Amino acid sequence: MRPAVAGALLLAGLAACGSDDAADRTALSDSTISAVAAFYPLHEATRAVGGGLVTVTGLTPPGLGPHDLELGARQVEAIDDAELAVFIGRGFQPQVEDAVADAPGLIALDVLDHVELLTVDRQLAGTQGEVDGEVLAGDVDPHVWLDPQRMITIVDAIAAALSELDPDHTDQYRANADAYLAGLNGLDAEYRAALATCRSRVIVTSHRAFGYLADSYGLRQIPIAGISPDVEPDARSLEAIAAEAKAEGVTTIFLESIAPPDLAETVAEEIGAELNLLDPIEGVDSDDAERADNYPRIMRENLERLADGLGCEP
Ligand SMILES: [Zn+2]
Repeated sequence: MRPAVAGALLLAGLAACGSDDAADRTALSDSTISAVAAFYPLHEATRAVGGGLVTVTGLTPPGLGPHDLELGARQVEAIDDAELAVFIGRGFQPQVEDAVADAPGLIALDVLDHVELLTVDRQLAGTQGEVDGEVLAGDVDPHVWLDPQRMITIVDAIAAALSELDPDHTDQYRANADAYLAGLNGLDAEYRAALATCRSRVIVTSHRAFGYLADSYGLRQIPIAGISPDVEPDARSLEAIAAEAKAEGVTTIFLESIAPPDLAETVAEEIGAELNLLDPIEGVDSDDAERADNYPRIMRENLERLADGLGCEP
């Protein structure tokens, strides 16, 4: 048995030996499991499954994205103290992986071990440039959280890890997971229905984040970025993307709040398309950080814009 769990059971035992309310409350707060989640959507899922039994610390501060996260002393300490870490490995956030590897006796849940992975597509024919720095070891695409179907699998993996850590509360973790999964299953059904019949099935995106979503719902992604951010893409590359988009009947170019819009605007102008937003949920504002339903809420907003931009029949 791991020391932290032994300590928790000891405290619970003391509280059970008849005591007042204050002692019970102390026992309760000391007996919660500590978990860390590497960035927002994993944080929300871990909090949902853990409920009142688990204290979850998010490692990526609100307002920041997960790419190139630099850990401060406070976050390294949180990882050291944690009994469970939920993260994306293979070089996505190298400092998180290093700290997790160094932490004694922690259950390391790399969500990439639990979902079907996709490799990053090669550049569209006729375009030049390097793929960007978001490609993981083995050419793996990290953006698994943007697919509701893969998120469902990830939530199950979190429930299994918490049950392994704290078997006495297996039923509670399962019930919490099922409550959160009811929302995700509904979201998946809405995606399948809303994207069933569309004028175009091609999404031109400003950042290569929607490959898993495209895979699950029969769409094809043409990313404009994916060309190294340090290298200005040449006119010929943008021309090739614009030509392909036009041939595919694309009338909306999707960009996102955090990426610079210029390239997406250039392509949109070239083919007379509109611009609209897709949120890659690589973080939430501090205003939203305490809400429990950001993921399904934002994914539903993404779906409305997708269905609109692709001309899908309601
Ligand atoms: Zn990304």
